[in-house]
Amino acid sequence: MRAIVVAENGGPEVLSERDVPRPTPGPGELLVKVAAAGVNYIDTYYRTGHYRRELPFTLGEEAAGTVAEAGPGVVDFAVGDVVVSPSVLGGYAEYVLVEADRAVPVPAGVTPEQAAAVLLQGMTAHYLTHDTFPIGDGDTALLHAASGGVGLLAAQMVKLRGGRVIGTVSTPEKAELARNAGVDEVIGYDDFPARVRELTDGRGVDVVYDGVGKATFDGSLASLRPRGTLALFGAASGPVTGLDTGRLASAGSVFLTRPTLVHYTLTVAELRERAAAVFELVASGALDVHVGRTYPLSDARIAHEDLEGRRTTGKLLLVP
Ligand code: NDP
Repeated sequence: MRAIVVAENGGPEVLSERDVPRPTPGPGELLVKVAAAGVNYIDTYYRTGHYRRELPFTLGEEAAGTVAEAGPGVVDFAVGDVVVSPSVLGGYAEYVLVEADRAVPVPAGVTPEQAAAVLLQGMTAHYLTHDTFPIGDGDTALLHAASGGVGLLAAQMVKLRGGRVIGTVSTPEKAELARNAGVDEVIGYDDFPARVRELTDGRGVDVVYDGVGKATFDGSLASLRPRGTLALFGAASGPVTGLDTGRLASAGSVFLTRPTLVHYTLTVAELRERAAAVFELVASGALDVHVGRTYPLSDARIAHEDLEGRRTTGKLLLVP
């Protein structure tokens, strides 16, 4: 089968399309014929080696498709079922192994492509806005990269929960998309803490959802109200390191958390409930899923160049 393999860590150029053996499912595993694989920022961390994985490996965490084989002991799924998972090992391929405990059934009314487009980023937006800092009526959130994959979904969820969103974006086209997703005030990155103070009558925001990281961290701290929350959930511009905890005091006794999806989908039940909540929003039409671009599998390199080059909006998919 064809797969996108990382044999050495590096830039997008290390992504190579190869013929590799089709895997065989072991106990508790499914072999899934991939209909669409999600491209996520985390894939770039594994590619560069910022997150470690033994080389060589097939890239990709998120995929949806049809169960082609079920390994011994699998009871929840059968051949022919349509499933999606946010934690496959090597989704950029024609077939992928999925632990049945990390698979989610794709409900009727949601296509495999939609499922791959919304699961990982949708559950991320969901836990951030419902659990990490549950948005209540009248809360104001600052959301960075508001037209990105997580951004567009998180913006809509803040609005669904009665909050107000101030969103940062880098271009006028991205600004328009963010506005369409419900962002109340779209701003640029230049001097954003000052703009946030203006827009909140000097008070600051209740929460910052920051997936940009290094470039925005200082400004995010400076944008919070006293005892506000900074949910630092990513590092698109690089990781935040060497924090002096005294800065949390001087920023207003603020709360800092560095959440990841795995800890908000800890059990099979939590994973499937959170996924079901997201799919329900999609199926009811409450949540719009914007696929910015769909690439053939062989163009994985271009997808990574576009993502890291800040040329993308919404979700990116690879289709084998
Ligand atoms: P996005 O679609 O949001 O793409 C990244 C965006 O970040 C860019 O389009 C760009 O938007 C913005 N950005 C700002 N500075 C930079 C920079 N220096 N280089 C590249 N991009 C920059 O990606 P995802 O939705 O896949 O992921 C967003 C973030 O969420 C990532 O940090 C990712 O790791 C994180 N994440 C975390 C999860 C978790 O559970 N912790 C789960 C899923 C994602 P603009 O041009 O408008 O600034």
